[in-house]
Amino acid sequence: MIKDFLQQHGNYHDDCSFKELTTIKMGGRIRHFVLPYSVEDVKEIVYFLKRNHIPFKVIGNGSNLICGESEYEGVVICLKNLSSYEIRNDEVYVEAGVMAPQLASILARQGLSCLEFASGIPGCIGGLVYMNAGAYRSEMANVIRRVLVLKDDDFVWMEKEEMNFSYRHSVFHDHPHWVILAAELKLERKPVEEIEELMADRLKRRKETQPLDKPSAGSCFRNPEDGYAWKLIDGIGYRGYQIHDVSVSDKHSNFIINNGNGSAEDYLQIAYEIQDKVKEKYDIRLVMEVEKFNC
Ligand SMILES: Cc1cc2nc3c(=O)[nH]c(=O)nc-3n(C[C@H](O)[C@H](O)[C@H](O)COP(=O)(O)OP(=O)(O)OC[C@H]3O[C@@H](n4cnc5c(N)ncnc54)[C@H](O)[C@@H]3O)c2cc1C
Repeated sequence: MIKDFLQQHGNYHDDCSFKELTTIKMGGRIRHFVLPYSVEDVKEIVYFLKRNHIPFKVIGNGSNLICGESEYEGVVICLKNLSSYEIRNDEVYVEAGVMAPQLASILARQGLSCLEFASGIPGCIGGLVYMNAGAYRSEMANVIRRVLVLKDDDFVWMEKEEMNFSYRHSVFHDHPHWVILAAELKLERKPVEEIEELMADRLKRRKETQPLDKPSAGSCFRNPEDGYAWKLIDGIGYRGYQIHDVSVSDKHSNFIINNGNGSAEDYLQIAYEIQDKVKEKYDIRLVMEVEKFNC
């Protein structure tokens, strides 16, 4: 019955696993996976699942998720089919499934400054809004005007002020059933060369400092106030530390990478050890930036 319903509203699969859907390439099977065709279909699906008390998880590109090995018995709703955008004077309307690096490049080619900071963040716009993702002293909160949300069964435009943005946090963390469907982002005209140069420079810096050739979920920990997580991790001697197929990257010690068949269990074991040792040595509690799911 669930399968029939989901098939009417999106591309449906019953043979997926989180290993295929996350950038760290870990995690168990998923009972039901659906890519809704439209925002209306998202609404129908969420309404149906809530009414039938079926658990669900909305995802974008799975670049901030560490998922357990046991089968997830609910429905994973991926919004990558919501992939349209429209540039209107000084703003862009963009659906949640558009990948941030792609949009950043499209805007750059038209001399539109907005997402330069996000050109190396491998997530979808919905995921970036959810996380208030950022880099190079900029973040989504700086460019968002409003967000279209499926909120308690209705489509609602939420203004930026209502989203409680702070460092890697938004109001959506407190409302797991709200779904980000689209956003309006502010644009500023700048010379194409200036934007492209900045993006190229930042991409180069990322390639030099991050293990982009290995599966990861980006930074494992948030930076503490007035400091860097990687320095604390170096301070406890964990750069390069390994359990089975998971290790702390030699290149960037806040990245924990999958060397092949790594599991969430090993990832979390390393993360918890780091938290304990950093607390012991520096009396600082590192907070995870990655999200654990189904584990
Ligand atoms: C190599 C690498 C580099 C990275 N660099 C950065 C960086 O510089 N800065 C940074 O901030 N992050 C960085 N990240 C982390 C990650 O890319 C961001 O957190 C990104 O915002 C996650 O987007 P996503 O689409 O992959 O979200 P997912 O991982 O799919 O989901 C993350 C969370 O958002 C929720 N969510 C996703 N979409 C929606 C939606 N439409 N509605 C409601 N909830 C939703 C999910 O339920 C989940 O709780 C990096 C990751 C990698 C792998």
